[in-house]
Amino acid sequence: MKICIIGTGYVGLVTGACFAEIGHDVTCVDNDSAKVKILQSGGMPLYEPGLADLVKKNVQAGRLRFTASTPEGVSHGDVIFIAVPTPPQPDGSVDLSFIEKVARDIAGAMTQYKVVVDKSTVPVRTGDKVAETIKRYCKSKVEFDVVSNPEFLREGFAIEDFLKPDRVVIGVRNERAVAPMREIYSPIKAPLIVTDINSAELIKHAANSFLALKISYINAVSVICEASGANVIEVANGMGMDARIGRRFLDAGLGYGGSCFPKDISAFIKISEQLGYDFRLLKEVERINGDQMDRFVKKIIETLWVAKDKTLGVLGLAFKQNTDDIRQSPAIELCRRLLAEGAALRVYDPQAMEKAKTVLKGVTYVSDMNEVAVGCDALVIATEWPEFKQLDLQRARRELTHPIVFDGRNLFNPQELEKMGFVYRSIGR
Ligand code: NAD
Repeated sequence: MKICIIGTGYVGLVTGACFAEIGHDVTCVDNDSAKVKILQSGGMPLYEPGLADLVKKNVQAGRLRFTASTPEGVSHGDVIFIAVPTPPQPDGSVDLSFIEKVARDIAGAMTQYKVVVDKSTVPVRTGDKVAETIKRYCKSKVEFDVVSNPEFLREGFAIEDFLKPDRVVIGVRNERAVAPMREIYSPIKAPLIVTDINSAELIKHAANSFLALKISYINAVSVICEASGANVIEVANGMGMDARIGRRFLDAGLGYGGSCFPKDISAFIKISEQLGYDFRLLKEVERINGDQMDRFVKKIIETLWVAKDKTLGVLGLAFKQNTDDIRQSPAIELCRRLLAEGAALRVYDPQAMEKAKTVLKGVTYVSDMNEVAVGCDALVIATEWPEFKQLDLQRARRELTHPIVFDGRNLFNPQELEKMGFVYRSIGR
């Protein structure tokens, strides 16, 4: 199929590369011409495991190309995917101006029947607005269908998630759009669920909110674990073995972050409010998430007594493992809170340092994780990168002026660290 993707970020670029990989002919559009230039010259504007190779391979095979021109992309694609940002506004609702702009751009460039697919995460009823807008701005009477095809990939595992999803959701208003969507996804072996557009849009918000709810649930349980002397990991393991519950998203920590969960939960609360329902359950999910950061900062301050003039080593800046994405990263938030307490910071992340440098100033960036502890009063683990488990702990103990570890991701075994002479504070145990 001839496909156009508008928006070549974490979702759009993965979508474009994966569609090309399964045999489609793909043009990716982005209005950030600097990003397009990087891609056209064989570079990568973002880090996602395996993506650079996949892009290179498919560009060389002639199935994938990049342009800054929306008309060029629209004339290429029979099916046009929208993968532009849907950021939050100060009141929690979604800024849909990017989607609206793309809808107008598509309308202006359409000369024959197109299927316009929204892959961005949007509030229920956005599909209707996209259809209205295209109709209004399309000068000739060209036919089109609007489809909702929410994306569930996780950054850090995006290619695998895209090519082997649990399910593909297709929301349509017109049966005519189902066949091309089935054809596009036919090489992907996963159940394809066809719904109406509103339901497809709601599936995404409801699913993300539920996952965030699981995280806040285990974080709330972690508070009870700490107060009672139980171990949250054992509780999560025991709960998670129940097939009705499942172990995933039951890791207590600094709370959820990233470019999706915080904005999607607040967007779901907001759209519910507009539709006449006060989604108090999700408001509590947000509150527990915020408390988790407060509690961790308090734990650090209580142990150090005063953070001012102390130096802390921080491992992790990305919002989670396997990505360079720092949008709404709890690790960055933690650094800001510690800086505000007057601490000096030595920080390290395997992938996110370049992006962090643009937003986190006044800290020392260290290029080797084993050097972070040098001269520090304590070490803080802020992101669950698996390689942090390989930290040279003997060396860290020697380098730290006081062997204290605050583990916001429960990476280490408390007994082992205490045996090595560390003061070790983690979450819920
Ligand atoms: P992103 O910011 O990484 O990428 C969006 C891209 O769109 C940018 O490169 C930007 O320059 C481009 N863009 C903006 N306006 C444009 C326009 N008018 N024409 C062409 N290009 C334009 O964002 P992302 O993380 O890929 O997220 C995109 C959407 O997918 C959001 O709605 C997000 O909620 C959703 N989503 C994201 C993830 C994720 O893990 N990142 C997962 C599932 C769904």
